[in-house]
Amino acid sequence: MILIQGKGVSRGVVKGPLYFFQRPDTNIQKITVTDVKAEKARAKAAREKSAEQLNALAEKCKEEAGEETAILFETHAMFCDDDDYVEAIEDMLAEEKCNAEYAVKAAGEQFATMFANMDDAYMKSRSADVKDVTQRILNNLMGVAQGGIESDVPVILCSDDLAPSETLQLDKSKILGFALTAGSSNGHTAILARTMGIPAICNIGADLKVDYQGRTAYLDGETGKVVLDPDSITIQAFKDKEEKQKKFKELMETMKGQEDVTLDGKHINVYCNIGNPDDVAAVLNNDGQGIGLFRSEFIYLAASDYPTEEEQFQAYKKVAADMKGKRVIIRTLDIGADKQVEYFHMKKEENPAMGVRAIRICLNNPEVFRTQLRALYRASAYGKVAIMFPMITSVWEVKECKRACARVMEELHNEGIPFNPETEIGIMIETPSSIFVAPELAEQVDFFSVGTNDLTQYTLACDRQANDLGKFFDAHHPAVLRALKMAADAAHEKGKWIGICGELGADLSLLPTFLAIGIDELSVSPSSVLPLRAEIRKSIARLCTLDALNC
Ligand code: PEP
Ligand code: MG
Repeated sequence: MILIQGKGVSRGVVKGPLYFFQRPDTNIQKITVTDVKAEKARAKAAREKSAEQLNALAEKCKEEAGEETAILFETHAMFCDDDDYVEAIEDMLAEEKCNAEYAVKAAGEQFATMFANMDDAYMKSRSADVKDVTQRILNNLMGVAQGGIESDVPVILCSDDLAPSETLQLDKSKILGFALTAGSSNGHTAILARTMGIPAICNIGADLKVDYQGRTAYLDGETGKVVLDPDSITIQAFKDKEEKQKKFKELMETMKGQEDVTLDGKHINVYCNIGNPDDVAAVLNNDGQGIGLFRSEFIYLAASDYPTEEEQFQAYKKVAADMKGKRVIIRTLDIGADKQVEYFHMKKEENPAMGVRAIRICLNNPEVFRTQLRALYRASAYGKVAIMFPMITSVWEVKECKRACARVMEELHNEGIPFNPETEIGIMIETPSSIFVAPELAEQVDFFSVGTNDLTQYTLACDRQANDLGKFFDAHHPAVLRALKMAADAAHEKGKWIGICGELGADLSLLPTFLAIGIDELSVSPSSVLPLRAEIRKSIARLCTLDALNC
């Protein structure tokens, strides 16, 4: 029996084959070949396969995301067969007598640079498309699965950690669980796993060996254990846990349709965090009462170029409409730090968590901001949309955001486009400075939502991505909890409401503290809604104390 220990970050027990995520090799070497004809045939086959995949994606998009995104894939498919691009690949093969991989990579780079150097902004941005198509052709040449998984059966996906853009491409129906050698409980793979209700373990280290590929393992996302070749006692223990899990799920089903209210009548809004419109299915399935955080940056991360107003509008409108009048809080673009988007061409920073990220990017790029705000306000006509700004540190930032909102509303009004002028505006409280100026911030907005992932990072000076900070990264630290109370008091003083949308919101051991502080809303991953509801319904708010705030 092989027992591998990591950190459990998303509960649940699963059994399945281990599968190591396939990442394309970016270090392509030039190899001299004797059979140029064979390399030409390989390049052609890879281009044709890529075009086929892209056309299939376009068809899928037509049904699920609308024409505009479909056109993007159709254009990519056409580029696979572009005369000049094909000629560049074939000339390189003939002249250099090299391997197809090298020729495709070189032609792709040549075209990407050519587009990037053009004056016209539209042509310039085609550079990202060329890179995308070239990578797909290279993946097909090297036999690397698109989206990282090529398996007929669902698997336990093993990797170091996954970039947000990689998680987006995964075929979630193929994933039973995640086993990560790196990563942290606040990392995006862990957040995705919890959103999808997929068991996950991170920070396993070198004990998870690529040699284990294909071997059947048990994974327990609560205890952080992966077991290969289990002995009979361990198999029985896992089976018992599976049975317990099944019973717990059945019990949670009985929570559907129940009110989120304590025994003494204190109501709390239990909302969900989502990353894309498809996640709404999980929200509805778990009876979430609203969306407390739609991380809109995932739309940007999934695109190879700035998403247009129309593309964004369609996504926001779909979520607003699907939620049928329940509140949908959409956070404006929060990239930078661990979420890098290539086409933003951001400068490399020494300390990106403290660099130009989130609202700073929007305020520095008024056109990008305006496009998103227009899409958000247009979507506000189709449901109960609220807009939320991330990483606020100062009152002037909020005033500038509100001015941008006012300008957009005026534009839409003049164009006769419907929107809700009463759309709520809120901010994320996730920096220490926002705590200190919370009274003034509360005057400016309709609500606060506390991002405990970043608030913990900045308050305790602990990198949220690092997995070796151990006990130093303590989201239960009295400093974090007192900050929460200060923000709540400031909001309530001005008659505003406050929620938590960081991962701490789902921490049932802190529910009494949240009730004592007077938190009005908790936004958690969809799979956490029903367990949280069960706990709320067992609680007596007036007996809850602030003990956790003392050292
Ligand atoms: C947070 O910081 O707690 C938060 C909810 O935002 P994100 O995790 O996306 O930074
Ligand atoms: Mg944050």
